[in-house]
Amino acid sequence: MARRSDARRIGVLGGTFDPVHIGHLRGALEVAEYLQFDELRLIPSARPPHRDTPQVSAAQRLAMVELAVADVPPLRVDDRELKRERPSYTIDTLESLRGELAADDQVFLLLGWDAFCGLPSWHRWEELLQHCHMLVLQRPDADSEASEALRNLLAARSVNDPQAIVGVAGQISFIWQTPLAVSATQIRQRLAEGRSVRYLVPDSVLAYIHAHGLYRAPN
Ligand code: ATP
Repeated sequence: MARRSDARRIGVLGGTFDPVHIGHLRGALEVAEYLQFDELRLIPSARPPHRDTPQVSAAQRLAMVELAVADVPPLRVDDRELKRERPSYTIDTLESLRGELAADDQVFLLLGWDAFCGLPSWHRWEELLQHCHMLVLQRPDADSEASEALRNLLAARSVNDPQAIVGVAGQISFIWQTPLAVSATQIRQRLAEGRSVRYLVPDSVLAYIHAHGLYRAPN
């Protein structure tokens, strides 16, 4: 695909990454390659302390994402949400990111299908498309359904071919990537049961989990 201008193409994948796994990483890498992103930022979200997985801190979630993407350009970590004092909304993150980019840079927010279906509960969700395009990834393990508001949004904003998306923001496209029915919930459960999660997370993340005794069942 020929690139038409100097504008950069930036992907954003937010999540709790508790822990990061191959579903996040393969999806991100495949989309980044397919759409020729200059960078794709994984942005770990802060959580209110009562919603944190016991004994796994935000700093440890961040450390695992850093290990996972080390030396894998164009993937990189953006820790802006963890630097804030309060958990931040995606709209705030996009506004802050936009403030650092050139006016003609394209921003693509990646969302798994389950996350996309939950959009109407997000703060100022109807403004998100002013700042980014949305790329929706299929999740073979998700059985969420889009609400009427989302179906209307899709009717107004969707583009069949993600490579045909134009402009800096405002369009939605579904995107095919190798479907991986992997979730962080499943990984936490396996670890709590003392079972292996090898090959579900990168080896560096596995080593970190074991070195720090993360996700073990309380004694
Ligand atoms: P949990 O099981 O703890 O809810 P998760 O595996 O869904 O976690 P998140 O950190 O909540 O992971 O996900 C961040 C983003 O990545 C969301 O948009 C989510 O839909 C997407 N995602 C997570 N796993 C996959 C997967 N296997 N395939 C495609 N997208 C995924």
